Amino acid sequence: MKNLSALEPKRVFEYFEEICSVPHGSGNMEQISRYCLDFAKRHGLRAVRDAANNVVIYKNGTAGYEASAPVILQGHLDMVCQKTEDCNIDFENDGIRPYVDGDFVKAEGTSLGADNGIAVAMALAILASDDIAHPPIEALFTTDEETGMYGAMALDAKLLSGKRMINMDAEEPGTVTVSCAGGSNFLMTLAYTPIRVRGTHITLRIAGLQGGHSGIEIHKGRVNADMLMGRILHEARAVGDFRLIGVNGGDKGNAIPLACSAELVVENAQVFVQKLQYSMDMIQKEIIDREPNASLKVSVGEMGEFDVLPQADSDKLSQLLLCAPCGVMDMSVSIEGLVETSLNLGILKTQSGVVELLFTLRSNKQTALDFLEKRLFALAKTFGCSTKTDGHYPSWEYKADSVLREHYKACYKDLCGGEAKVEAIHAGLECGVFASKIPGLDCIAIGPALFDVHTVKERLSISSTAETFALVKQILAKCK
Ligand SMILES: [Zn+2]
Repeated sequence: MKNLSALEPKRVFEYFEEICSVPHGSGNMEQISRYCLDFAKRHGLRAVRDAANNVVIYKNGTAGYEASAPVILQGHLDMVCQKTEDCNIDFENDGIRPYVDGDFVKAEGTSLGADNGIAVAMALAILASDDIAHPPIEALFTTDEETGMYGAMALDAKLLSGKRMINMDAEEPGTVTVSCAGGSNFLMTLAYTPIRVRGTHITLRIAGLQGGHSGIEIHKGRVNADMLMGRILHEARAVGDFRLIGVNGGDKGNAIPLACSAELVVENAQVFVQKLQYSMDMIQKEIIDREPNASLKVSVGEMGEFDVLPQADSDKLSQLLLCAPCGVMDMSVSIEGLVETSLNLGILKTQSGVVELLFTLRSNKQTALDFLEKRLFALAKTFGCSTKTDGHYPSWEYKADSVLREHYKACYKDLCGGEAKVEAIHAGLECGVFASKIPGLDCIAIGPALFDVHTVKERLSISSTAETFALVKQILAKCK
């Protein structure tokens, strides 16, 4: 069944359909990397597969380009597998079923994996061609991008000799991405020895906030439920004596927490609750323009005995939450509207004698990220918390003298009319990993219009794919 055979550019969609027929969810990379090797063999091209299943396929420059410097074409092989409840596809063993709907390619009951199969398909179409002018090509297909950029991280840069890279994992046509954030996770742990007290159980609940992505939505003024709980605990201390059983909010480092709850024990519940609810109503009024659906509630539970934090530790925690930096730290002055450095308290969790605070840090400048970590170390030390950092990924800094960026802008004007948008994103991309591995790398990230990626509604614009492919060809022609 060739559902996409009538589409243009023909080769691109033929390869995309083949890729769809091979299982390639993250973590399931053997078959798709084998497919790439088989492709190379069929076309008489040299190819290498490494231990992480990354594949590099090499092709000589065409007539007149034999001696030109190589260009790296890059995309990732894995996709995020999502399916509807009634879909019977087994992602481990089955392909997915793409179909055409107007200007879009979609998949029956599943995510489409055009993120990032369409990049692979475009690169294969160029490798298979005998009518496209291009310099020597190093087509790099990486694995497990979606789960942590593991393929890119593991890649031996010696497999590549190119210093120019076109990454095709962006999703906005007419836009060229030229910088991304680096980041890390920072865990603070406050250990305590629980003590048992008697009193009335009280629950403080923040709910209904918008949340959002801790990178690309950090500048939208949304309220972080965990940080807000710090403020409410501070208010509560002014209202009356309480003991803290625990506080919990957020379950992902890279999401702004949209709810948080704290459990307390108090002696005189009625007065405490009345006064605190008044303070919480005042705060709700203050944030209503940012968080129209916010709900801040105190509720009274049963009398009983409860394990709580010692007073000194619960004070430490609420003061730590008051002092901790969170949100946008710096905006870029080179790229308008870009958040340069930020952090997000994504998880606040209490369990058996420890309170954990997980921060996600990002910066498009490596030194700024290092400094932010130092600030958190200092803060943790002040409050007697232990620390752990992990999940470091490198930033891709803006390159003032990028030739590829200028090629893209010129080609876009020529082919599509109008000015291309130059953009940087405040989230991690594989380009950051490559920029850290290949000194002096000139890189751009582009791609066709994709919507609702990582969901069953994922769809790829056919006309935008044609436009992107034409742009890639024209950029390659300029890379003499
Ligand atoms: Zn992607």
